[in-house]
Amino acid sequence: MKVTSSEFIISAVGPKQYPEDGLHEIALVGRSNVGKSSLLNKMMNRKGLARISSRPGKTQTLNYFRVNNMLYFVDFPGYGYAKVAKTIKEQWGKMIEGYLKNRQELRFVIQLVDIRHAPSKDDIAMYDWCKQIGIPTVVVATKGDKIARGRWLQHTKVIRQSLRLRGDDTIIVFSSETGQGKDELWGEILRRLRG
Ligand code: GDP
Repeated sequence: MKVTSSEFIISAVGPKQYPEDGLHEIALVGRSNVGKSSLLNKMMNRKGLARISSRPGKTQTLNYFRVNNMLYFVDFPGYGYAKVAKTIKEQWGKMIEGYLKNRQELRFVIQLVDIRHAPSKDDIAMYDWCKQIGIPTVVVATKGDKIARGRWLQHTKVIRQSLRLRGDDTIIVFSSETGQGKDELWGEILRRLRG
């Protein structure tokens, strides 16, 4: 897709701040450091729009980005960061659960996992949670450039099996360095929004 405009809208701390224009929303979830900001920047053709390597655990907000006046990417706080206080974790949990369960505009989740590693417990819990609520997931294996192309299949197979990927959930190999997977992910997004 040709991205003609992308803008940061708001770091929302709760539902009152979510946009009210009814555009479709796609939530991005993943562990801290998985490459979520880099992927967002790549998808939006904007180098610094989503902050890269902001201190893990600091972002306790849902960050809204509007693309082509057509959809919102909703950047979730990175999970799996041990140093975050329990109370803050609980707050996030509530906000995220409320969003996933109640947000009418949410169409699907893009879940990021590092292609090099088997999904963590948190990754599996996140995926299962979305399935319980009934939200479709597109799994993106990030940092594809860090392993040889010939090993992608082997690695995505491990991810697929660990998460127990359901029926029409998809897995896409992505690299923010090379742009690998960008067109494929946009294609998948548009197909799902139309479908
Ligand atoms: P976030 O915490 O999930 O938002 O992760 P970031 O986007 O900040 O990326 C974490 C680190 O991984 C940074 O040093 C990035 O430069 C690096 N990184 C992210 N994506 C890629 C990628 O596709 N390839 C490589 N080689 N490094 C990446």
